[in-house]
Amino acid sequence: MTREKWLYLETFGCQMNVSDSEKIIALLKGTGYHPTPDISYADLIILNTCSVRAKAEEKVYNHLTQLKGRKRKKRDLILGVGGCVAQQEGARLLANVPHLNFVFGTHNLHLLPEMVRAAERGERQAEVGFIDNDERLDLFPVADRVDAITRFVTVMQGCDNFCSYCIVPYVRGREISRRSGDILAEIAALTATGVREVNLLGQNVNSYGLKSPGEMDFPTLLRKVAEVPGIERIRFTTSHPKDISLPLIECFAELPKLCKHMHLPAQAGSNAVLAAMNRGYSRDEYLKTITALKRACPSIRFTGDMIVGFPGETEEDFRATLSLMEEVRYDDLFSFIYSKRPETKAADYADPVGFTEKQERLRRLQSLQQRITEENNKSLVGTVQEVLIEGESRREGQFYGRTSGNRVVNFSADLPPVGSIVDVVITRANRNSLLGELTAVKAAGQKAEG
Ligand code: SF4
Repeated sequence: MTREKWLYLETFGCQMNVSDSEKIIALLKGTGYHPTPDISYADLIILNTCSVRAKAEEKVYNHLTQLKGRKRKKRDLILGVGGCVAQQEGARLLANVPHLNFVFGTHNLHLLPEMVRAAERGERQAEVGFIDNDERLDLFPVADRVDAITRFVTVMQGCDNFCSYCIVPYVRGREISRRSGDILAEIAALTATGVREVNLLGQNVNSYGLKSPGEMDFPTLLRKVAEVPGIERIRFTTSHPKDISLPLIECFAELPKLCKHMHLPAQAGSNAVLAAMNRGYSRDEYLKTITALKRACPSIRFTGDMIVGFPGETEEDFRATLSLMEEVRYDDLFSFIYSKRPETKAADYADPVGFTEKQERLRRLQSLQQRITEENNKSLVGTVQEVLIEGESRREGQFYGRTSGNRVVNFSADLPPVGSIVDVVITRANRNSLLGELTAVKAAGQKAEG
């Protein structure tokens, strides 16, 4: 009988990496490796890395140095690095870290089983080639976690936008859309495992299909996903503001299964900074998109991303960001100090503002967002929200789920099954979550309007 083998997988960074890690687990089950949360059991360690922030490469090298002792104690331990740092460093990583067995890039997940087998035979290799849109290989095996109510489904990857600060086009490659038939088949298969909600994932989902002759566009894909039996809710992330089309806005008015939430990163509120970032829209155009979405779907909620201290950002520019936040009133915001990345255009920009000033700006921005989040949450008290139950809370007798607008709600109930859609009246608002009481359990397919 062959011994069970254990995979310890560490994931850094964004949702795309989280989703890739699920695929890695699914792929490696076929080679006999099962995931473990305990590194001391590991026969195979994989670091799935992210390079969006500064010093990412340094952190990976430090991590690999720490793993050297573990490898010395267990000589047949296999060590691999994937994700964006792997893509960026490639064979250099293998050359610099003699105890590393393999390196795989962001387009090479499907090669992983063979790479692991080769590592078991003592071979070392780095695979970081990009595939292109003409090939459109199905890079994305169906991940097979069976305990989830809500799942990410990759629809495209890569990006052609080249925002001046962003490393993604260099490490995730150019845009490739997955075949719509494969996406719909995966979603249908997921419903058989109990999935009720899918989150369609890509760096820039709005441009899905546009560069693949004969393929449907993103609004059409959304309508097709809504027709898959068993799917009750659809979300998507991430959207680029310049690519929000009228047909997409109409989906929010016409598809009850489409959740009333959009993550729409503005990144800055000043026209000068937006132009320097090469974002392709002005403040005014961004706000017009927000207004059009609110008109189509009055209850829609927004979250976003902001970069503070972009090279050349003045105090006046920064205040324009704060005033944009007041106008949009995001429920939540991911905010970061600008981080210089190799190869990007902004890495060569003059950057006269000191780091201490940038930290102070970030503090001001986050404190404003905290106030807006609390006010938004409080405004929900007394309203009835449709919630998809995702699991049991740590407190006995309590469940948690998300509203259509993507707020987490905790509430007490007498065992409505996980995966049910229920009506919950919001009774209390905290900084990051809401408390409520169950008012009704809905039958499958019965959706609230609005
Ligand atoms: S749209 Fe801009 S920020 Fe987003 S992944 Fe593409 S280049 Fe990066």
